Amino acid sequence: MAIDPQLINQLTLEEKAALVSGKDFWYTATIDRLNLSPLMMSDGPSGLRKQDASMSGLGLKESIEAVCFPASALTACSFDRQEMNQLGHYLGKAAQAERVGVLLGPGINLKRSPLAGRNFEYFSEDPYLTGELATAYVNGVQNEGVGVSVKHFAANNRENERFTMSSNIDERTLRELYLSAFEKVVKNAHPATIMCSYNQINGTLNSQNHRLLTDILRNEWGFKGLVMSDWGAVADHTAAIKAGLDLEMPGKGDLSTEEIVAAVKKKQLSETTLDRAVSRVLAMIDHWQQQSGDPQKYDMDAQHQFARKLAAKSIVLMKNDHDILPISAADSIAVIGELAKKPRYQGSGSSHVNAHHLVTPFQAIDQARPETPYAAGYSLSQDEVDHQLIDQAVTLAKRADKVLLFAGYPEQQESEGFDKDNLNLPQSQNQLIEAVAKVNPNTVVILQNGSVLLMPWVHQVAGILETYLAGEAVGEATWDILSGKVTPSGKLAESFPQRLEDTPSYLTFNADPKIENYREGSFVGYRYYDKKQLTVQFPFGFGLSYTNFDYHDLTVSVEDKQVLVSLKVRNTGQRQGEETVQIYVGNHASHVEMAAKQLVDFGKIGLNPGEEAQLSFTLGLRAFSWFNPATENWQVDNGSYEILIGSSSQNIRLHQDISLDWTPVQPLIVNMNTYINVLVDHPELKSALDESGIGEIFDKVMTSDPATAKMFLNMPLRAATTVGVTPEQIQRFLELSNS
Ligand code: BGC
Repeated sequence: MAIDPQLINQLTLEEKAALVSGKDFWYTATIDRLNLSPLMMSDGPSGLRKQDASMSGLGLKESIEAVCFPASALTACSFDRQEMNQLGHYLGKAAQAERVGVLLGPGINLKRSPLAGRNFEYFSEDPYLTGELATAYVNGVQNEGVGVSVKHFAANNRENERFTMSSNIDERTLRELYLSAFEKVVKNAHPATIMCSYNQINGTLNSQNHRLLTDILRNEWGFKGLVMSDWGAVADHTAAIKAGLDLEMPGKGDLSTEEIVAAVKKKQLSETTLDRAVSRVLAMIDHWQQQSGDPQKYDMDAQHQFARKLAAKSIVLMKNDHDILPISAADSIAVIGELAKKPRYQGSGSSHVNAHHLVTPFQAIDQARPETPYAAGYSLSQDEVDHQLIDQAVTLAKRADKVLLFAGYPEQQESEGFDKDNLNLPQSQNQLIEAVAKVNPNTVVILQNGSVLLMPWVHQVAGILETYLAGEAVGEATWDILSGKVTPSGKLAESFPQRLEDTPSYLTFNADPKIENYREGSFVGYRYYDKKQLTVQFPFGFGLSYTNFDYHDLTVSVEDKQVLVSLKVRNTGQRQGEETVQIYVGNHASHVEMAAKQLVDFGKIGLNPGEEAQLSFTLGLRAFSWFNPATENWQVDNGSYEILIGSSSQNIRLHQDISLDWTPVQPLIVNMNTYINVLVDHPELKSALDESGIGEIFDKVMTSDPATAKMFLNMPLRAATTVGVTPEQIQRFLELSNS
């Protein structure tokens, strides 16, 4: 039943105060006397984590059964908007069936440091990719009549001291990197809610950050939904409501009500401001209760099949020397590594799902190839090397044509709630890989991890498959790729560095418990490695295939405020496969710190052997803009840009230079600090230079020796007195040139 729009007028102050906090861990407040029923919220991004009445909110591993989809670290590698939209539909269906009104996801924070504990739950180091995939996902969920909470707003990029630390970021970096994906989702998918994060930005707690929650989110971006807190993110509820927070989660029971009632009575909070939050809570409950309708049954097995498909489409083939993969029927294989039997297939913390039907890699392999030999090689519960386990694995490896070696971070090494200290696999695993590769060079390492790791053995093994946390169908999806049933098409959504010391925020990450200084600015991920020309282990956007693609016939045309790009892609190999074409822009026009190139679009296409298709892209203003903090606006500068078409950020197949002159040229205002090179470069200033007598003096200096001329050009007008220009001449010149 729809909520009466006049309901707010019937509420007592106590009832209003109760409504702006959750009733408990998962529900909004109820007002029995007015028949206001609660709305339920549940995690999470990669599968429904609904806790029923019998389960404690803090029991992270207790929830009803649901399909566990791959974690976002993997799904982002699909570079596939359609599949992300489908994932959203399935999550929405599960939530709808279980009477969950708002799904707490997706998490769209940027991967600033590979050490950040929650990277598995986030998409990418690139804001464009994140924003595109999250938009598709949110539209999918909300089309099923279930709202989402896009989290964690914003700059929540580390776990240590996450409740209190301040992310100190300059405005341009904040806008271009850390807010950009949120902006896109808000504008293009209209999420029901945004969840504000625990941390501070530049010294203001996000739950109390008026600029973030009101000025930017609502006034600039036009957000119409509700802002809720992350669980326990509210320190001062009154200040939070004033800043633009609508719902504190979870509630603190009577304490929550009492503090708001007291604040209104003491005139610390106006009832009008409280009403604003109350009306948004009521609107959320009303809208999503109505959208959802009666619960519909859903098919978990069909969802499991989708989880398998999505994982297979996302898994990244990193190395495949001598076409060691796919495995052929004639190859004898050995499976090594405890993760084959006890896979890590999901993250730890609030996104943990009680999986419907886990299929382990060993089960999937054994079903296709009964009696495949197996050795554990290491124990997940201990870091130390177990020589006996390694010896058994080596013996097995010697007898097989090919070894499938499963390795990855054990659960205790990465989770929500704390950051990692290093990017190393346990010693037990690194030593195992080296020992096995020594006796059998046909070793393929299959990785299960939520985030980037180092590979000291990279040159010793023939193949590497990155499966991240692949969800409950991990076994089937992995075997689909290993066996060649599916041609790999995943591309890395984050760079894999060679050393932790090479990473952009190495010097600052977690250095200070209170403050995280984002000194690398916008040079995060490939933006940093590219600019520094640092060799990485595997670059952003990289992923191999079992087939090959040829890119050709690029055309680029500059229109009015948009650039049209089209190219042809042909599958020149022997197998059907999918390719992700990445469009980057290099900006050579703007005189500010600028990445060498930035991702501005991408497209994924499936082609049969010999088949060719045309892909077209329309790049708008944003693809060429940077955020100018001085004007508080996005700015496009006239000048030259490069359109780069890559199959990864480092494998640029086609490129074309273009010139944009979209921005009206601002008349040059000359002052004492204008540099002499600017003055002599402007033909329209020539007559003013001549008439004031400055031109003649400049000419003399410039025709003296070249080093003096160069130094002179790099001086401001006021310094021209050092070469004999008089203050009167300068004055005259300023009058003439600015008139
Ligand atoms: C997490 C959120 C999650 C919430 C509810 C918090 O600790 O940061 O992502 O949605 O708990 O489980």
